[in-house]
Order: sequence, then C-alpha cells, then structure tokens
Amino acid sequence: MNTKTKILLIVAMIFLGLVTATIINVAINFRDYAYNNAIEKSKMTAEIVRDGLTAHMVNGIMDKREFFLRNIANAKDVEALWIVRSESVVAQYGKGFKNESVRDLIDKSVLKEGKMVREIMENADKAILRVSIPYIASAYGSPNCLQCHAVQEGDVLGAISMEFNIDDIRQAGTLTIAKIFGINLIFLIIAVFITNHYFKPYMHLFLNLQQGIKKAHLGDFTHRFTTEIKGEESSVAEEMNSLFEKMQDAFGHIKEELSTFISRNNISCDDPLYEARNIIHELSNIYKFKKTIELDKDKYAIYERIYSLLENKFDLKHFALYEVNHARKERKLLYITHGESFCSHKADTDALECRAYRTSTDIISTDFPELCSACTQNGETEYACVPFNINNDYSFVLSISSKRAEELGDISSKLHSIENYLEAAKPVIESKILMDVLRESSLRDGLTGLYNRRFLEEYIEHEQAHIKRDGTAYDIMMIDIDFFKLINDTYGHDAGDIVIETLSGILTSSIRESDMAIRYGGEEFLILLRHSTHDATMKIASNIHDSFKEHKFTFGNENVEKTLSIGIAKLPDDNDSIWKVIKYADIALYAAKNTGRDKIVEFTSDMFDGY
Ligand code: GH3
Ligand code: MG
Ligand code: MG
Repeated sequence: MNTKTKILLIVAMIFLGLVTATIINVAINFRDYAYNNAIEKSKMTAEIVRDGLTAHMVNGIMDKREFFLRNIANAKDVEALWIVRSESVVAQYGKGFKNESVRDLIDKSVLKEGKMVREIMENADKAILRVSIPYIASAYGSPNCLQCHAVQEGDVLGAISMEFNIDDIRQAGTLTIAKIFGINLIFLIIAVFITNHYFKPYMHLFLNLQQGIKKAHLGDFTHRFTTEIKGEESSVAEEMNSLFEKMQDAFGHIKEELSTFISRNNISCDDPLYEARNIIHELSNIYKFKKTIELDKDKYAIYERIYSLLENKFDLKHFALYEVNHARKERKLLYITHGESFCSHKADTDALECRAYRTSTDIISTDFPELCSACTQNGETEYACVPFNINNDYSFVLSISSKRAEELGDISSKLHSIENYLEAAKPVIESKILMDVLRESSLRDGLTGLYNRRFLEEYIEHEQAHIKRDGTAYDIMMIDIDFFKLINDTYGHDAGDIVIETLSGILTSSIRESDMAIRYGGEEFLILLRHSTHDATMKIASNIHDSFKEHKFTFGNENVEKTLSIGIAKLPDDNDSIWKVIKYADIALYAAKNTGRDKIVEFTSDMFDGY
C-alpha cells in the first residue's frame, strides 16, 4: 500500500470513527428520550385509570369499568392494557372480570414488591415497552383508600400493566441514523477528495524523494527531483537537486583521486561513498604497514612481516614466497607455510622454469589445465602464482595453492590487495637491500674481499657474549709479510697489491667455512679458527706459511719469493678476552720478527718480559 492510499485511508477512518460515535450517541439519546416519554405516558395513564376506577367506585358503577378501560386501551400506541387485583382486594371484592387476573411474572412481582417494572421486548418485527405500575393504598390521598379498602397504609391494592408499541420510535431512530450517516458520507467523500487533491503534489514529491534517496543509498546520485508544488515549498526539490549534483561530483572525484593511490583496486562497488571509505581504509592499513616496515632491521624482518600478513590478514592457508635473483636467474624459497615447495626442484633453482617469473604474468591454474609445467601440486589441485618485481636485481614470486577451485577464486580476488601491500613494501625493501650492500661493503676490504678490521670489531662485540656463555674457543693467528715494503719500493705499489691478493687467496683456501680471515692492517692478516685443536692450528699455520713461501711472484723479468711471520695465541687458554688474545698473537708475531722472521711462533707468557 503506498503512502497516498494510507493517508486517504487514515482520513476515511477518522471520519468513520466520528460518524460511528455520533450515531451511537444519537441512538442512545434517541432511545432514552423515547423510553422516558413512554414511561411518562404510562404513569399518566396509570393515574387516569386509578382516578377513573375510583370515580367508578364512588359512583357505584364499578361494573361499567370495562368500557372505560377499553377506551383508554384504544388510545394511540397502547397495544394492551389490563389491571390486576391484589389478594386483599380479591378477598374484599371478589376476583373481578376474567381479564383482571395476574398474567405473568411481572404482574406477580409488581403486586408483591409494590414497585414499578419496565421492560423493552424487541424482535426484528416489533418493539414493545412493557410498564407495570402498582396502586399503593394511602389514607392521605384523595380519596382516602382506607375508607373503602380493608387494607393497611402502603399495601398494594392492585396494578396496571401496559404495553406500548415503540416501533415508530425505532423507525424514527433508524431514519435519523441513516440521515446522519448519509450526510457524513457526503462530507467524507468531500474530505477524501480535498485531501487527495491537496496532498497529491506533496505525495508526488515525497515518492520522488523516496526514489532518489533509495538510489543515493546505493551510491547513485544521478536522480533529479521534480515538483508541482508552487511557492516556497518547491525549493526542497531545487535544494535536493543541488545537493545531489554536489555529491555526484564530489564522490566521483574522490573515487578517481583515491584510486590513483593504489595501483590496482579490487574493492570497487557501485556505491562511490562506500568505495571511497574502503579505499581510505585500505590506504590507511597500507600506510601503517609501510611505517612499520620502515623501522625494521633488514629485508628479512620485512619478509617475516609479509609472511604474517599473508597468513593472518589475507588468511592464506598454503603459500610459498620465492626470491628471484635476476642476474643469476636463480629462484630461492624464502618461506612456505608447510610441506615442500610447490614447484619442481628444477624451478627451485632455475628461475626461468617458473612461468610466472618468465612471463611476468599471474598464473592461475583454473584459467587453463596444467598451465605451468613446473608446478607439481603435491596433492593440492589448484594454484595461483604471482610475480612481483622489487627492483632491477630482485623479484618475488608468490605461489598460493588450494584444494578447491572456488577457494582459489576467493584467493584471486585478494591478489590485488596483496599486490598493493607489496607495492608499498617495494621501496622499503629496495632501500634495505641498498643499505645491506653498503653495510656489507663497509665491512669488507676492497682489495681482497676479506672482512676488515671494522667487521672484526662488530663481530667481536656480538660474539663476546657467546664466548663467555657457550665457552667458544678460538685459536688466533696474526700474519705479516716479511719485508713487504721492499716489494713496493722495488716493483711498485701494484706488485705489492698482487702479493697481498695472493696471500688473501692462500688464507681463504686454507681455512674452514666456520673460520674467518680478516685483513687487519696493510699487510697484516688475522685468522680466527673456531674450536680448533693445537695440531690442526699448527697444520693450518704451516700450510699457509709454506704455500706462501713456495709461491713464485714474477715482477718484470724477476722471480720473487716472499715469506711470512706468524704469531699464534689461544682463547681461552692464554686469556678469556678476545682482544687480549689478539694482542698476544701480535706479541708472538713480534717475537717471530725479532728472532729472524719466516717462522711460526706460539705465544708464551714469558714474552711479556719485553713489554
Ligand atoms: P716487516 O718485515 O718488519 O713487517 O717489514 P715490512 O716492510 O713488511 O713492514 P712495514 O710495516 O715497514 O711496511 C708495511 C708496508 O706496507 C707499508 C705500506 O706502505 C705498505 N702497504 C700497506 N697497505 C698496502 C696496500 O694495500 N698495498 C700496497 N702495495 N702496499 C701497502
Ligand atoms: Mg711486514
Ligand atoms: Mg706490517
């Protein structure tokens, strides 16, 4: 039911309510009036009858009373009239005429109680008012009843019962009600007509507003309002039109501008307001994410955060993240939720085996059967692999798998949002990679590629706690080229560099991966041997010493041989401070130099004497 019908119905209901109330009121009043009239009439008739009968009695013509009573009964509206005698009158004067005996319970009750009884007896055809009035004996009236009747003051002498036809009253009432109803109906029709006519333009505007607001709720502000209302009220439509124009314009722009902040937008919906809110929400989350990762220590800390984002925010159950090195065309598994890598082992190392990386496109298995030959799904049936370029050197490949095609559909819809996060992380990861490179280069020696003294300082600071707590042991060698300056002076600085590089090569090839070779100074090197035995240390030292000594350098036409002096000290045997042990190795080296060079000397405490 529309609003207009509702209003008209309400108006009609109000009118009908008023009409009904009026009719009921009129009917009740009318009935009361008619009823009271009939009662009055019956009382008067009763008095006339009493006086008439008394006159008959006084004149001794009581036997002629029937004529008198019939005349009265013939009066208009009197359906029936009869009198009844009380037992005392019957006892004194006999039963009277046949029709003067008690006819019903009302007669009986009036004679017994001495009180008037009135009753309306109605059916569809007829309406009768029955009134029965008692005659009470009294010595104070005129005439004095007790003169003729052998009764006490207040005794009931008899009663008169009358039945009045009140059909006329009922008909008149019905007619009045019909008239009232008719008049009101005419007024009702006029009221509905006026209401309809007056409200029509308002209803039109209201329905128009309703439609417009409904559309606006869905984000469509194209609706324009029209109205036939004249005057001031018509401005509502104009103002709404101007408001809608503004909204359409503003939200269109907001949506457009916001979508430039995120490269790919998958949260599009028809409602620009809702969409703007979603984009802002997404942007705000991405901004927080970016701010957080900017303060992370290195790219690996950022990677950790990406894994947790994929697992917790995007609710990915099974995925793997790979890092691809462009120069080496190498793909490395960074993280996998569980199980083995999704791809064949070949693709784990050879990046060109990965279709997503090679083609720089999203690979979604539901697009085409067996799309990527490298993807072995280990029981999983569907997969989506997305390449993501970080910089000229590195890319990511995100592989997500699912057992059900529908679930992969849900995942695919998240990919745009995931890419927005990765896009935000990109410059941060890039700067962390750059910082790592810078840092790494600041810790390495440019000529030999070995760690430098700065690295040693950082390493020791970090390692000191382990040495104390875990009892880590180091044998430390300090190595110096004998008369190195001579090479520089004789064959030039480049020749000196070659000697240094050669020694560096010998050092790295002589130690294990857990050991460390450091360029400590110009032509001074430090070797840290982790958990080495005395024999092993001595073997490595002599191996380095001999290999270097045996190496033939050719500068110009000359073959040159060089020797090394090596000093060795042990942590924790000689001291539990690593810096002190380095110092002791240096003392041992000094001892080697002082005692003829070209030798390996182990630190002993008596060497302190010289210092
Ligand atoms: P000793 O046997 O007592 O060690 O004598 P030495 O000549 O080896 O020692 P000294 O400390 O007098 O000379 C070391 C020289 O090494 C001095 C310096 O110019 C040179 N030097 C330091 N770093 C480099 C480098 O990177 N390249 C070259 N070519 N020479 C370097
Ligand atoms: Mg030297
Ligand atoms: Mg030196």
